[in-house]
Amino acid sequence: MNCEIIAVGTELLTPHRQDTNSLFLTSRLNELGIDVLFKTIVGDRRAQLAGEVRVALSRTDVVITIGGLGPTEDDVTRAAVADALGIRLRRNPEIVGALYARFAARRALMTENNARQADVLDGSVILENSCGTAPGQWLDTVYGEHRKLVILLPGPPQEAKAMFDLECMERLRAVAPKRSIATRTLKAAMIGESQADARIAPIYGRYHDVETTILAHTGDLTIHLACGKSAMEMARQRVDELAGKIEEELDEYIYSSQGESLEQIVLDYLGMRGATLAVAESCTGGLISERLTSISGSSRSFLGGAVVYSNALKTSLAGVPQTVLQEHGAVSRETATALAEGIRSKTAATYGIGVTGIAGPGGGSDEKPVGLVYVAVSNGKHTSVVEQRFAGGREAIRFRASQQALDMVRRQLM
Ligand code: ATP
Ligand code: MG
Repeated sequence: MNCEIIAVGTELLTPHRQDTNSLFLTSRLNELGIDVLFKTIVGDRRAQLAGEVRVALSRTDVVITIGGLGPTEDDVTRAAVADALGIRLRRNPEIVGALYARFAARRALMTENNARQADVLDGSVILENSCGTAPGQWLDTVYGEHRKLVILLPGPPQEAKAMFDLECMERLRAVAPKRSIATRTLKAAMIGESQADARIAPIYGRYHDVETTILAHTGDLTIHLACGKSAMEMARQRVDELAGKIEEELDEYIYSSQGESLEQIVLDYLGMRGATLAVAESCTGGLISERLTSISGSSRSFLGGAVVYSNALKTSLAGVPQTVLQEHGAVSRETATALAEGIRSKTAATYGIGVTGIAGPGGGSDEKPVGLVYVAVSNGKHTSVVEQRFAGGREAIRFRASQQALDMVRRQLM
C-alpha cells in the first residue's frame, strides 16, 4: 500500500514556514508498512489543489491532505477534495452544534464562517480534533475503478499529530497489508560518498528488497537500510545480512552499526577501556571538545583540554617547545605532535589529541595552503600524525579536522 501526502498552505511555499507535518506522518506510515511515494506542497488555491488531488488519486492508494480545514476564506481543502472527487459537501448539524457549544463555553460569539468547518464530504467519517476546532475527515471511496482512501487532517502540527495517532493509526492498521519494516543505520568516517558507493553498490544492488540510502555530510557518511516483509524476522534477517556485507567491505571506515555518532562511539570505547582523553585544539577552536561534551556522561572519559590559538598558549598550556614553533611553524607535523604529547602529559590523560591547520579562507600560502591540517594522537608511548589537505570552506575544514581526530582515536581504541 502506498501514499501521497499533500501539504496545503501558501506559507509552506515561502522561506518562512516548513512542512514538518509530513515528516511525522511519514514515520508513522512507515511503521504501518505504507510507503510514501510522493509529497507535494500546494498553495491555498482551490482549483490547483483539486487538480493535485486528482493527480495523487491517480498514482497512490492513500491520499492525505494536511491543512486548510480552518474557517477562513483561504481554507479550501474540503471544497477542493469535493471538486476532485465530484462529490458534494453537506453541512453536518452535529458539528455545527458542537462548534456553537465550544464558542459558548468561552463566552465568545461564533461568526458564520466557522460553520464551514462542519462541511463534510459525502460518505466520510468524521475525525475528532482533540486539540482544536476543525474536524478531520476519512473517506473510503472509489476513483477510476480503484479503491482509494482520502484523509483530511488539520494543519497545526499538534492537531495533526493527535488526530493521526488517535483517529487514523488503528483504522489504517486494519486496512494496510501486514508488513513489518526492519531498519539499520551504518555510519562511516573519512571516506567520500562516491568512493564508498563504488565499493558497496555492487553489494546492495543485489538486495532488491532492501532500500539503501546513502547520505553524505562533510567527512561523515550515513547508510540507511530498510526492508519490509510480512514477518519481522524475515525483514530483520535481510537487513542484517546486507549490513554485514557492507561492514565487511568498508571495514575500518565503519564506526557505527546502529547509527550512533562518532563522538558517542569514541566515548563508548574510552569507557570500555577505562581510558581518558584530552585535547589541544588550534584550528578546530574547541569543536572537538564541543562534540564530545554534547554527549551526556562524557565527563567519565573526556578530561577537557585547551584552545591554543596563539603560539604563546601552545607553549604555556600545551607545552609545545618554542624551538619547535620557530623551526617548523605553528602548522606542522612537529607542532601537532608536540600538542598531542604536551596536553597528554599535562593532564595525565591516556590519549592526547593535537590539531593545527589553516581553516581559511585567508592565511594560506603556496607552501601551506588553506585546508592543510595536521592531526596527532598520542598514547604516551607512540604518537601518530596525519597530514590532510581538506577541501571546502572554513566550517567544512574545521569539521573534517575534528572528524579526523576523533576517528584516529577510535581506530587506536578498536
Ligand atoms: P486552522 O484551523 O488553524 O486554520 P487549518 O487546518 O486550516 O487550521 P492551516 O491554516 O493550513 O490549517 O495551518 C494552520 C497552521 O499550521 C499554520 O501556522 C501553518 O503554517 C501550520 N501548518 C500547516 N501545514 C503545516 C505543515 N505541513 N507543516 C507544518 N506546519 C503546518
Ligand atoms: Mg487555516
